[in-house]
Amino acid sequence: MTPDLILINADIRTMDPLKPRVAALAARNGRVVALGSTAEIRALAGKNARVIDAGGRLVLPGFQDTHIHMQDGGMNGALNVDLAHIRTIPDLQAALADFAKKNPKRHWLNGHGWYSGIFGEHNLTREVIDAVIPDRPSMLYSSDYHSAAINSKACELLGLDASVEDPENGYFSRDKKGVPTGLLHEKAIDWVRERMPEIPDSDWEEGVRYGQALCNRHGFTGVLDALVTDRHLRIYRAVEKSTGLTVRVASTALVEPTDTVEGALERVEGFRRDFASDMLKVHSAKFFLDGVLENRTAAMIEDYHDAQGGNFPVMFGENHLRELFIAFDRARFQIHCHVIGDKAVRAGLDALEAAREVNGAWPSLHQLAHVQVVDPDDIPRFAKLGVMPNIQPLWARSEASVTEIAVPMAGPKARWIYPFRSLIDAGATCAMSSDWSVTTLNPFPIMQTAITRQPPEMGPDHPVFLPEERMTLDECIKGYTVNAAAAAWRSADTGSLEQGKYADLIILDRDLFAIDPYDIAGTQVMLTLLGGKEVHRHEEFKG
Ligand SMILES: [Zn+2]
Repeated sequence: MTPDLILINADIRTMDPLKPRVAALAARNGRVVALGSTAEIRALAGKNARVIDAGGRLVLPGFQDTHIHMQDGGMNGALNVDLAHIRTIPDLQAALADFAKKNPKRHWLNGHGWYSGIFGEHNLTREVIDAVIPDRPSMLYSSDYHSAAINSKACELLGLDASVEDPENGYFSRDKKGVPTGLLHEKAIDWVRERMPEIPDSDWEEGVRYGQALCNRHGFTGVLDALVTDRHLRIYRAVEKSTGLTVRVASTALVEPTDTVEGALERVEGFRRDFASDMLKVHSAKFFLDGVLENRTAAMIEDYHDAQGGNFPVMFGENHLRELFIAFDRARFQIHCHVIGDKAVRAGLDALEAAREVNGAWPSLHQLAHVQVVDPDDIPRFAKLGVMPNIQPLWARSEASVTEIAVPMAGPKARWIYPFRSLIDAGATCAMSSDWSVTTLNPFPIMQTAITRQPPEMGPDHPVFLPEERMTLDECIKGYTVNAAAAAWRSADTGSLEQGKYADLIILDRDLFAIDPYDIAGTQVMLTLLGGKEVHRHEEFKG
């Protein structure tokens, strides 16, 4: 078995405890066949093997992002206006005016990324958009996709007026006369989307290519798309069959409160049967148990502690959720939940516990994603039930969404916002992820924030958000490699560099283990290999 590829002069951290650190590896047909010293590996290779000289740099298994919206985020990134860096209404209007001017033929002018900590009922209405886009419809998603804003032309085309009632699990913001202001929350977004013209498949496919290239550039060789429907799967397959997928795509298929147990199971089982290639699979079912604190749709055990009080119910009835989880767990699906408030976390754990009691324990590695507020009594239950926290540590820092929204709303529970250290110390295994395009997918600022609990652009003097909840570098790397592979049910083939596993790996420009933690965010990926094939090369890498 002569290798066709060798990687030499490297500092390979394999993430395999039996052989944790080597200088070289050999691969054949995309899989690792040997690991050892540079001399040993060189001796194995014939004349025709491709040689990559890492120049002494750090090599890790390819990273996996286990909660990312690669297709939706990719389509937005490729085709719509990005409002993520905008902080004022005049800047928002300038960006929209510019986008409209540059796209004279486009019917709907859509965008994404406005920040609901800054924009909301008090300053974002359809008139704000009308001032710069009066004659064409426009829909702008917030960065967390739990709210959106539309202009008057869109309201008119869609028939959104005072007579339209709020959907269940969502609402239209309204003025004093009950006329919608153009702001949409949760299921009100779906009301609009269902009435908009359909986006052509070619746009979605362009989005996948954009998204996967961005993933490769930041060191990803695998993802778990955190919400797929039949359209997502059709588009992923089309890309797989045409130009090819350059990240391994696992996915979780949406189940909604309106689904019956039988209907949901039949649909998702169909997906699992029809999409089961090396590069694309469905292994999981996705449930939104609540919304987000920013638009006051998070489900909390106690009423919101700030002046406005109130609360929001868990989006599934208790019995319905339990029956769904029991059925999906019995059919050997992983369950992946969006949970923000501590009541949603508890509802998820309760229903997963019920499923385990009925069906027995098996290595499901069910995922509770986001876990923004966790009641301390529930922290030990993750390890006990074998449930993985799927965490986005970039959000765990002192900034407006935390200090001005989450902390006042959580009141006495604010100590338990993003309690990652507590979860790990209580035995939980965490998968790290980005939730892109909510926020950046670049894993290095995310890792730095997990370690420092400070915004990466602010440096060491910025206030630390709950320093007792800091994670270690080792935990972060595991969160993106071995733990992420486990979360995506790909441990047999990926997550560590061992004989028989895929040669999915990355070469970094710096040694994460030697540098100051404040230098982690700037890390560049020099080379990304997927099954031994180059899917990203930094212009400065010559190895
Ligand atoms: Zn998400």
